[in-house]
Order: sequence, then C-alpha cells, then structure tokens
Amino acid sequence: MPDATQTTPEPTSAAVQPYDAIIVGAGFGGLYMLHRLRALGLRVRVFEAGSGVGGTWYWNRYPGARCDVESLEYSYSFSEDLQQQWDWKERYASQPEILSYANHVADRFELRRDIAFDTRVLGADFDPLRNEWVLRTDRGDVARAPHCIMAVGCLSLPRMPEFPGRDSFKGKLYHTGLWPQEGVDFSGLRVGVIGTGSSGIQAIPQIARQAAHLHVFQRTPNYSLPAVNHPLDRQAVARVKAEYAALRERARKAPAGVAGFAILTRSALEDPPAVRQQVYQDGWVRGTTGFTRLYKDLLTDPAANDTAAEFVRGKIRSIVKDPAVAARLTPTDHFIGTKRICLDTDYFETYNRANVTLVDVRSAPIEAITASGIRTAEREFELDAIVMATGFDAMTGALLAIDIRNGAGATLAQKWAGGPRTYLGLMTAGFPNLFVIAGPGSPSVLTNMISSIEQHVDWITRCIEQLRARGIARMEAEQTAEDQWVEHVNEVADLTLLPRANSWYVGANVPGKPRVFMPYLGGLHVYRARCEEVAARDYEGFALSS
Ligand code: NAP
Repeated sequence: MPDATQTTPEPTSAAVQPYDAIIVGAGFGGLYMLHRLRALGLRVRVFEAGSGVGGTWYWNRYPGARCDVESLEYSYSFSEDLQQQWDWKERYASQPEILSYANHVADRFELRRDIAFDTRVLGADFDPLRNEWVLRTDRGDVARAPHCIMAVGCLSLPRMPEFPGRDSFKGKLYHTGLWPQEGVDFSGLRVGVIGTGSSGIQAIPQIARQAAHLHVFQRTPNYSLPAVNHPLDRQAVARVKAEYAALRERARKAPAGVAGFAILTRSALEDPPAVRQQVYQDGWVRGTTGFTRLYKDLLTDPAANDTAAEFVRGKIRSIVKDPAVAARLTPTDHFIGTKRICLDTDYFETYNRANVTLVDVRSAPIEAITASGIRTAEREFELDAIVMATGFDAMTGALLAIDIRNGAGATLAQKWAGGPRTYLGLMTAGFPNLFVIAGPGSPSVLTNMISSIEQHVDWITRCIEQLRARGIARMEAEQTAEDQWVEHVNEVADLTLLPRANSWYVGANVPGKPRVFMPYLGGLHVYRARCEEVAARDYEGFALSS
C-alpha cells in the first residue's frame, strides 16, 4: 500500500501543464467525456496507456472476442449522424468491428489531438490549496486541472494467477486481456487454456479449430447460451435506423440500458412446466443475455432460478456427447445469472472434437507451470502455448493501480481497503473534484456499458458546466450521503441471489480482495432518475464550495 505521508515531488511550474480537465482512459467513456467537455470550450487532456483508442476493445483481441450486447444498441446514441452513418455488420459485433468503430469516432470528432497515447498515469494528487488534481505519468508528464475524470474501465486490469514456475515456461504465455496486436497462430500447437469465463468460452472454439490439441483447464463450469450471431439484414437495420431515437429512449428507460430486454412481470413458478420450457426454449434460440429476465424472479428466488438453470443443464447434456465430459461442464455451484452469463458460438460443441480435452482443475488443481507445460495434482501436460483466460481485478483494480492521494493524508487504496465506497458511484468522500465513470456503486457492468457511460458523461458534463458557471471550485461527496448510498447498494444486492456467487462482482476472483457487491443492481432507469433528482436539488449530498 502506498505511504500516504509521502508527497509528490513538486515539479517546476514550467513543466506542469495546466488544463481545465484531465481524463484517464480513452475507451468509450474517455472518448465521449472528451467530446462533451471540449464542446464546453474546456482545455482537456486524456492520458491513455494503450497506443490507440477503444479501451477494453483495444486490449482484448483474443480469437472470438465479441460483444454480448447487440451492436445496434452497444453503440453511442449521442450523435444522430453517427448512428445513421455507421453500419454494423453483425448482430453481435466482433472485437475488430468495435475497435474500428472506436477509431471512427475518434477520427470523426477529431479526438486524437487531445489524447496522449502510450502514457500510463501513475499517480494523482489533490492539491487542496489550488483545488486541483496533479497527475503524473510514466513518461514524466505532470499535468494539473481542477477536475479529474477516471474513465479507466471496469475490466481493464488483467489478473494472472501466481502459479509457481510461471516464468519458467519455455513456450508462449498469453492473457486474453493483453492479446498481441499481430494475433497468434496456434496451428499445429499443443495449447492449454486456463479459465472458462466469458473470455475463455469465446476463445476456446476458435483455438480448437487451429490447435493440434487443446487442453481446457476448468475450475468452475459456467452457464453459457448460444449467441445466435448472424450478419445483420440491411432491411432490418434500416427499420431500426428509421426509429433510432425511439429505440434509444426505450433503452434509457430500461433497467439494463437495453431496449430489447422486455420487463416481465410473471414468476417462473406461475407457469406450468411445459409453458416454462417453451419460454426458455424461445430464449435459447433467440440468443440473449436477457435469458435471466424471462421471468421476474429468476435472480431472486432459488426455486425459480433452478428451473432456468436446469433447462440450460439439459442443453449441455444434449449437446456434449460424452456424458462424463457433459457432467463436468454442467454448473451446479451457483445460480444461473449470478455470475455474468456467457454467450458463445459452438462452445459446448467444441468438447465433441477429438483434439479437445477438458481437464478438471477443481478436483486436481494446477500446482505449477513448468518449463514444458502445466502440472496439476494429477499429472503434467506438455504444451507449446498457454492462454490465461483468468479475468480481471474488476471495478476497483484499475483505479487502485493509480496512486491516488487526497492531499489530506489519505490514499484511495486506504479508503477502499474494506471495499469501494462511493456516493452514486460518481464520487468518493474525501477526494474532491474526482469523478469516476461507470465505477463501483453505479449500474455499470450490469447494463449495456455504453448506456451507462453516456448517462455518467452527460451528468458529469452538466455538473462541471454548472460548477464553472457558478464559480464553485470544490465539489465533494458528503460522508453521510455516501454511507447511505453504500447501504442502499448493499440492501438492493441482498434482495437478490447475486451476492451469493463467488463472482468478480464481489471480488471473489482476487485472493484477499474484500467481499463486497460492487455494482448497483437497482436498474439504470431508477439510477438515472436518482442522479437527475440529486442534480435538480442543487447536488444534494455533495458539498459545494467556492
Ligand atoms: P472471468 O469471468 O473472471 O473468468 C476467469 C476464469 O478463470 C474462470 O473460469 C476462473 O475460474 C478461471 N481461473 C481464475 N483463476 C484460476 C486459477 N488459479 N486456476 C484455475 N482457473 C482459474 O474472466 P473473463 O472470462 O475474462 O470475463 C470477465 C468479464 O469480462 C465477463 O464476465 C464479462 O463481463 C466481460 N467479458 C465480456 C465479453 C462479452 O461481451 N462477450 C467477453 C469477455 C469478457 P473460477 O470461476 O473457478 O474462479
């Protein structure tokens, strides 16, 4: 943990670049934030660790990487010209397509000139005398601005388990979240994939098609549904575009920020089994993460949940030919939807291939990575390449990787040692003028991220505009408001089954991380109304001072 008494060496003032706002990250959050603040006439600087824009879609280039929200909805709504002129090719866009969209947005709105690429922010110090944030980067930049906006992403700090001997491996080691730009050719290779979350489940079928042999090292089986991805029909796209504004409006009023998810009022237990089976079958062939919204109580009632879980388990048994392999792939340790549900293309079918072996590392854990492969408690596997699909230090990891100090002797890492604490997910008490986009305490990862990003950016933009107009130099979340919000976030989560799963939502994937349900489950529509109300009441719960 950083030493809070240590102060940043004050650079010579000539070296300090002054701005009106600094944004960390040039993913979808940072890009839109830059666009909006620049339109206010502000001098803005964005620091981005990657060499290009796109955030998660810049880094996650593994084979099969694809969004699980439909492209016509997983896209910015702020520009009518943009949404009319950009043509999505597939129902669920692939990583290359989303990355070219991010690049198009950066070019179209001339965003690059304000972005410093290949520049990682190391520290951010609040200067209480000037009410400014001073940021330091790994390239020696020092920049100051009254407002700092963290757009660092929720799943952007890759997690590599500390297997003994990891560095001794003579083959190639990859992480799905740090994939080489030039791609990887697995032809003729013996490959091992560790991890069967969304990333692993997307990558495994693709790697299996190339590799000589693929071993999948699975600790926990996951629920996955076929994505039913397909090229978009031009006429269907034209119909959406003709009424895009209405679709976006429905998304704004929807709990997950997705217009296509119906809000259902029936309990799963109200329907007779045959009707329920048909509802699930219809959901299965439609291919949607909205599967757990087919009934109102799938995420709150264990008995209701089990009807959906059992349907998916039945599908796994019917697809996977070897009953022993099917049994190992069948999730039984968590409720469906309490870990992020996965969408796949041919995932379970891949285990019918002769060149794919499922290795259960729950019963025989990985003991070490050796020079020639992976050793489990049972045996050694000789491999030419290992792919870690082992996830991220989610929601807080990327924020806490920056040494954030509040100028009053506290670091963010100290404040969040017991888990993240925010007011509305937008600010944290004791750290004035520091905004977070789609961070812990906001709906964020439980929604269409672009809907959540737009909502946050719009709110922050209006807020900064008003602060500047009124000469308010300092805005800070009040402790009581924050405590009440954190309590509310927990209460809402506890009404559901989600906190019970060992998911990254609760930090369970990172050893030693405090177990706290991090995103806000109350729904983006409810949350949006709350944020609007707070702003309308002169930023109730925030202390404003000149
Ligand atoms: P993840 O869901 O956290 O999955 C990590 C996997 O690695 C799990 O199967 C985990 O097993 C395994 N693992 C971790 N440490 C291990 C160890 N020491 N030994 C054996 N196995 C280990 O990570 P992810 O797949 O990268 O997905 C993270 C999130 O990113 C997703 O939930 C989703 O929100 C987002 N994402 C979205 C898409 C999409 O839009 N389609 C695609 C990729 C990612 P345990 O479960 O036993 O811990």
